[in-house]
Amino acid sequence: MTAERYYDLLKSTADGIAPDVTEIEALLSPPDAECEQKLFDTALALKREIFGNLVNLRGLIEFSNICTCDCLYCGIRKSNTHIRRYRMSDDEIVYCAKLAADFGYGAVVLQSGERSDREFTDRVTRLLGKIAQLPAPPAVTLSCGEQSLEVFKEWVAAGAKRYLLRIESATEEIFRRIHPEVTTFANRKAALLRIREAGFQTGTGVMIGLPGQTLHHLARDIEFFREMDIDMIGMGPFLPQKDTPMGNAPDDKETVARRFSWALRMIAVTRLVLKDVNIASTTALQTIDPENGRERGLLAGANVIMPNVGDISYRKDYQLYNGKPSLDENGSQIREKLLASLRKIGEEPRWDVSGDPPHFTRRTKA
Ligand code: SF4
Repeated sequence: MTAERYYDLLKSTADGIAPDVTEIEALLSPPDAECEQKLFDTALALKREIFGNLVNLRGLIEFSNICTCDCLYCGIRKSNTHIRRYRMSDDEIVYCAKLAADFGYGAVVLQSGERSDREFTDRVTRLLGKIAQLPAPPAVTLSCGEQSLEVFKEWVAAGAKRYLLRIESATEEIFRRIHPEVTTFANRKAALLRIREAGFQTGTGVMIGLPGQTLHHLARDIEFFREMDIDMIGMGPFLPQKDTPMGNAPDDKETVARRFSWALRMIAVTRLVLKDVNIASTTALQTIDPENGRERGLLAGANVIMPNVGDISYRKDYQLYNGKPSLDENGSQIREKLLASLRKIGEEPRWDVSGDPPHFTRRTKA
């Protein structure tokens, strides 16, 4: 595609003409560096038109790394014997939620490995009740894997607002390859529909740069977000974790640079296609580029950051991939660095707000 044609497609998409999947793939394939920069600038302009120069913050609490699944890429998969399994106590979790609220984050993400036994699901319900009783309770996003409709509804009734369940790849063949004997693509998709039915703001996302994945597959991922009418997106580059079956995937400089660049393009094109959804600039970007990764995600159109507020003593045992940043920084240190990095790029935190995606408000009022 020529640069001229690329600019035309960029403009028509930004103006609201929905691209088909072939055009989405073309948007993900800028013909030169200038076109790529124009893609990021256009997505940032749209993000600022919708959200201003403001960024929503969610304090991340990785409350347990116990998981019943064996996803091939994941550092806390059940077969990995190289980590210490933990579950934070209720008091520790509520303390972290309060800390996030005191920091002005307005929202927290409670993330864990997947368990669907009653002891676990009841515990999450109880925790939600305790968090709701804080003087200024933060909005809660849950990310605890596939659950039944009954459990999702119970968690909504207990006060959770959002749920994040990544599809990882909307191409069934890739999904199957990285989740053998874990779950099926149909099950994962059905779980997303249950999340929506239960009343959650619904979030999903994908890994970018998986072995064998092309820009065509990624275009189909964006098409999937659109078809599923998703409210929130969290996606990042694939980073091999050494103690997993995918730990030997290519990790040379060129491959990593391509994954990083594709991840930024995915953020930008997703912003242009879906417009008023929340999009996170994820830790995986920061892992590849510790100085500027997270900032570059925001400059490509993301509007959410999830600073860790969990206890340092647990963090090294929640490494989904190698090289996770900020392992030895406490919540205050992470907050200070975050504020400085936002200032550097002309963005500001939105203090003390839940930060709902306008897309959710629009679809539920329609
Ligand atoms: S990706 Fe989630 S469900 Fe899969 S092994 Fe990791 S924590 Fe468990």
